Amino acid sequence: MTAHRDPWHLVYDQYMPAEEALREALCTTGNGYFASRGAAPESRADGVHYPGTYVNGVFNRLTTRIAGETVENESLVNLPNWLPLTFRIDGGAWFSVDDVELLSYQQELDLRSGVLSRRLRYRDQAGRRTGLTERRLASMHDPHLAALEVIVTAENWSGPVVVRSGLDGAVANTGVPRYRELASRHLDAPELEEIDAATIGLRTATSQSRILIGLAARTRARVTGRPSPAGLVVREGGQISQEIPARLALGESLVVEKTVSLYTSRDPAISEPGMEARRALVRAGGFGALLADHAVRLGGLWERLQLSLSGDERTSLILNLHIFHLLQTISGHTADMDVGIPARGLHGEAYRGHVFWDELFVVPYLTLTMPELTRSLLRYRYRRLPEARRAARDAGYQGAMFPWQSGSDGREESPTLHLNPLSGRWRRDQSNRQRHINSAIAYNLWNYYQCTGDVEFMSLYGAEVLLEIARFWASIARHDPVRGRYVIEGVMGPDEYHDGYPWPSEPGLANNAYTNVMAVWVLCRALEVLAEIPGQRRKALERELVLSQPEISRWEDISRRMYVPFHGDGIISQFDGYPQLPEFDWDSYRARYGNIQRLDRILEAESDTPNRYRAGKQADVLMLFYLLSADEIRSLFTRLGYPWDRDLIPRNVDYYTKRTSHGSTLSRLVHSWVAARANRPGSWELFSQALESDIADIQGGTTAEGIHLGAMAGTIDLAARGYTGIEPRGNVLWLNPCLPHQVRALAFTVRYRRHWGITIRIADGRIQVAVPLSDAPPVTIGYQGKLSSVRPGESFDAPLPEQPLPR
Ligand code: BGC
Repeated sequence: MTAHRDPWHLVYDQYMPAEEALREALCTTGNGYFASRGAAPESRADGVHYPGTYVNGVFNRLTTRIAGETVENESLVNLPNWLPLTFRIDGGAWFSVDDVELLSYQQELDLRSGVLSRRLRYRDQAGRRTGLTERRLASMHDPHLAALEVIVTAENWSGPVVVRSGLDGAVANTGVPRYRELASRHLDAPELEEIDAATIGLRTATSQSRILIGLAARTRARVTGRPSPAGLVVREGGQISQEIPARLALGESLVVEKTVSLYTSRDPAISEPGMEARRALVRAGGFGALLADHAVRLGGLWERLQLSLSGDERTSLILNLHIFHLLQTISGHTADMDVGIPARGLHGEAYRGHVFWDELFVVPYLTLTMPELTRSLLRYRYRRLPEARRAARDAGYQGAMFPWQSGSDGREESPTLHLNPLSGRWRRDQSNRQRHINSAIAYNLWNYYQCTGDVEFMSLYGAEVLLEIARFWASIARHDPVRGRYVIEGVMGPDEYHDGYPWPSEPGLANNAYTNVMAVWVLCRALEVLAEIPGQRRKALERELVLSQPEISRWEDISRRMYVPFHGDGIISQFDGYPQLPEFDWDSYRARYGNIQRLDRILEAESDTPNRYRAGKQADVLMLFYLLSADEIRSLFTRLGYPWDRDLIPRNVDYYTKRTSHGSTLSRLVHSWVAARANRPGSWELFSQALESDIADIQGGTTAEGIHLGAMAGTIDLAARGYTGIEPRGNVLWLNPCLPHQVRALAFTVRYRRHWGITIRIADGRIQVAVPLSDAPPVTIGYQGKLSSVRPGESFDAPLPEQPLPR
């Protein structure tokens, strides 16, 4: 149960072991370089608690024999735990929240200052009452530092206390019960070092990728200003600790400060991680000094990313929580790191830290607020272009075919088998057929270019990625002489319930509408980019990529004659054959199972499959209306020679909404977005449910294994881009606002072209865009079909339309 005083504090007022894993994920603190779950410092992985620390991009591969096959998995590695800190009074048991009688308890995540705290009072078996106050942070100022402060107060006793503070290298990746049969020990046996009277160190390495890890921890304790003497160093099973003695008089407090540094051999500008960790601690101050710097840096990020929405307080709290967790995973410190966006944040081990198309839901808001991060994320893909080319060639295609799941080197990381926990059976995993990931990369790239006008980036890196993806789409598309159109076969759309046909056929699906239309969109952008980059660069690229005029003409032809399946009255078929599938009996399954979000698992356990029904896990056709404005879809359909009428969007939204189980947290978000204009109450309800995805763990257990970053960032983006209808296209910043009735006002700032801090505000029936003073050129705003030029220092101000327009 969460309580909230205001939109800036996530508060839990009771200790509930059954909820602890969920809270650990939601109370994760990080800085875009590393993050640690909000586990109790005294805890170990034991079924209730799961301390986990992850550095972005630190992956390792292990193999396991499973179901008669050898499988290899690459995982984001759970690194040595830097948190361990506990104490004991007068030779008694070491403190653990699970072993005492709690008199009060409160855990609080302060989103504005980025501090996680725990305050509790307890009575032990000897009748002693003790108070405990704890604060922790992962520094946003220096991404290699973290700190923990613990204050122990003797309420009705006096006597000796020993504090134990350590580093634990005996950790493994055991955070996801479904993966328990898979190998999980990624770290070599650690080297444990006593550095000085207050400092200990730990060095280890990942077993296969050979990434060196170095940590150091300095712990100091004092009672009313009197420092405690040096501690005793204890080494035990991969863990090194200091035991520091102290003595408390009645009512006195013992203050313990632990400062930790963490480096890996992937870091730039270092010698060796262990040495660097040690050197960093010499310079680092205590908790107060770290907090001051951290708060300034985080405050600056809030200025850039905050979105204020006046509606109800819980909505604001959740949006702030989502921005906070976006920043724990990706911040300015990520920009230099050669990493992608892990779908589940740095908050747990689900999906093994892999990078999916989920970046499609995360990047647009980053592009509007911190485009330098988008550039870095796009560079992660660019560096893996050779691997994507190899994958395309191996599969018999041309160009570049990016993997559905990506990790260290950009090869396909999707598992070949996955476990259905309901049936206990390992099933073949076909999800890597989701070639649409390629269009997601192209989409983010194009959107970045539209927002920033960064021709340099496009010319040097972006165009090459875009052209190679276009080339892939052109090579997977086959001309079907019967239809006189191009078809794409053997793929999967976003809806993961459908990975093949229930009747004998080739693997995968044919003509997934989303895939086909987005392929056309990519081909159009590729043709456009060739016209936009400087002529010299275009010539060089054509030479290097051996791109000929006949090939370009073929792209043009495919972009006009791609096949898109339809059925009924203007319904876009999700894929060829979809209308031949029977309807699914939603009512009876809901009655039998209650929650049917994971219908795939339910049906498989009944030896059935969702492939047999018109039942979707998530938005698929509707993704088109999510990504593309009504104008863009109309022009694509017209280009393809398909009929278009005004009702096509609402008809399809209505059709697929009835046939979706929302088994992915991305689904409600997309449904809410596409309903925002035609069905405002329905859209708000879906938005509210999407907001609850993690804070209320609506999938019943998945958030504990990592937050859903796509849904988190996507809800922010829905409020920002969705409700203002911002669309940077050509040299115009188009606006097409539509606020839900529940939102009275909305404001946020964006970066656009060379402008920093453009404020967009909707309130009292008006929309305003204020462009701050600078020497950048005027911004062209497009609103209700008209263009206005707004100079720096001026504002655009107009009434909202009476009726929302289609997006
Ligand atoms: C969804 C995918 C998503 C993945 C990672 C799956 O459940 O169906 O669309 O990319 O989770 O978040």
